[in-house]
Amino acid sequence: MNREAEFIKQVRRYRKEMLAPYRGWQYVPMGEGRSLALPVTVSCDYKGCLFCDLNQDLPFSEFSLAEIENFLKKEAYIQARTRRKARRVVLLHGNPLTLSAEKLLAIADLIHRYLPEVKGIGGFARAFDILKKSSPELLALKEQGYDHITLGIESGSDRVLAFQNKGVSVRDQRLALQKLEEAGIAYSLYIMLGLGGKEMTREHVAETITFLNQSRPKEIIFVSLVLFKNAPLVQLLRQGKFSRQRPYECMLELHEILQGLSLESIFNATHKTNMFPIKGLLPKQKEELLQKMEKELSRLAQEDGAAHEGRRWRSWSKEY
Ligand code: SF4
Repeated sequence: MNREAEFIKQVRRYRKEMLAPYRGWQYVPMGEGRSLALPVTVSCDYKGCLFCDLNQDLPFSEFSLAEIENFLKKEAYIQARTRRKARRVVLLHGNPLTLSAEKLLAIADLIHRYLPEVKGIGGFARAFDILKKSSPELLALKEQGYDHITLGIESGSDRVLAFQNKGVSVRDQRLALQKLEEAGIAYSLYIMLGLGGKEMTREHVAETITFLNQSRPKEIIFVSLVLFKNAPLVQLLRQGKFSRQRPYECMLELHEILQGLSLESIFNATHKTNMFPIKGLLPKQKEELLQKMEKELSRLAQEDGAAHEGRRWRSWSKEY
């Protein structure tokens, strides 16, 4: 076997080893798709959100520093033979920022030792992961390269967050963002369209607009609620305790949210859960985005919307 073929085989072996704890499937924040994904935790340590089935049967665990160093040695082997070097590392998995500041700093030291080209580190966090760290700890994390964190805010409405058992209040989320801003750590936010169902759609839209306009996210990522087959929300739907917004109605929510936004950010609704992708800069492209959306919405309203939705959703949702 020539050296190139041996290298490819080795890379495949390493990648398989690193995917194994995640049962072959990892997820990272949308903006970190090109970052090098480093296993530091498995699953999320909350697992309470009704709409989520990402980690339902995957127990939360942390890798030891020795295990993380071992992953980094493998990545360093790959990077040394790769032309396009990774400039960012994204920590896995659901909320790796739950790790203590001390451990996160030790991980950053290892990253910089084995991957000297890396300039930034990111990952998902819950509001409490930020709130439980002191301001000096957050400043130290920023110094060590933690420069962009992604939070699943989902909604600016306390009623919606409570119904979905998000485990945090709007105030918690606001305070977490303030702490990140004070430490100079950039953040991006996920918002989930349709999360309030039919009953709470008004407050979900209105209070999410307010929340976003009081924040300074680098990017806002909009996803539509999907009824994943193992998500506890499915039971509530079957019991008639939740009436879902159809994907088309989620896009109507998005249009209304966009109308109300007055902040500077990247508006990103290109996630595959949405009926159509749309992305642009706010406030510069707001009018253009609104016009594009209106065109798409009227095109989809004239088509058989239900069939279109079914094609996109069938693989994820049993409730279609
Ligand atoms: S949405 Fe995030 S915090 Fe909630 S259970 Fe899923 S991974 Fe955990």
